[in-house]
Amino acid sequence: MSTNISRGELKYEGKAKRVYATSTPTEYIVEYKDDATAFNGVKKAQIGGKGAINNAITAHLFPQLEQAGVPTHFIERLSDTEQRVRAVTIIPVEVIVRNVAAGSFSKRLGIEEGTPLSRPVVEYCYKSDALGDPLINTDTAVALGWATPEQLSRIRELALNVQAFLVPYFLERGVRLIDFKLEFGTLQDGTVVLADEISPDTCRFWDAETNEKMDKDRFRRDLGGVEDAYAEMLRRVTAPAQG
Ligand code: UDP
Repeated sequence: MSTNISRGELKYEGKAKRVYATSTPTEYIVEYKDDATAFNGVKKAQIGGKGAINNAITAHLFPQLEQAGVPTHFIERLSDTEQRVRAVTIIPVEVIVRNVAAGSFSKRLGIEEGTPLSRPVVEYCYKSDALGDPLINTDTAVALGWATPEQLSRIRELALNVQAFLVPYFLERGVRLIDFKLEFGTLQDGTVVLADEISPDTCRFWDAETNEKMDKDRFRRDLGGVEDAYAEMLRRVTAPAQG
């Protein structure tokens, strides 16, 4: 499929991925790792096969999101654990979209996990490991120069478009999408595009029949069966829609 492209200088190493420059200044290579962290890096382990699974899930979903009108950084999958992407400057705002109360939302507001929300909730966090990704609002992001009001309204629009695509997509494959986290970046001409990944590391997935957790909460909460859940999610994501 591809393309003679090879890794240059390591630009950035995060908890789950490495980003490399390439000989083309407008393109990067992203390498997905098996490393897993939770609770702001306090809990660490390897999840066997995770890098390849998250690469494959993201590579399956991003082109479909493009087709649905969401521009993304994704170009192509290069290998089991690598993908070729457009170089972006990441906007340091993590965007969380919620359909059902869970995790930090349930804790913060005292709402039982599993309570459906009457409309999607979009939340914003400052992307800072040192501070533990604190909750912010859009005024904060503008006042501190992280994004413009126009970029933030575009981000919200795109995040809700992602939501509108993904909820039925997963439901048709036996999965409830509880919540998920997105990151956006800007191309050199300023266009806002979806970046990062969409995977069991960044989404809460519950089995539609049993509500069994099929995502990183199995690792965070020591539920066991982590590798199996990731593998099953890859199988479902790449399966055709059920009747
Ligand atoms: N999430 C993420 N990275 C983060 C924080 C959250 O990918 O640094 C995802 C998480 O997997 C879940 C959603 O965003 O799907 C909402 O997470 P929440 O705010 O409830 O935080 P958590 O309970 O995971 O700390």
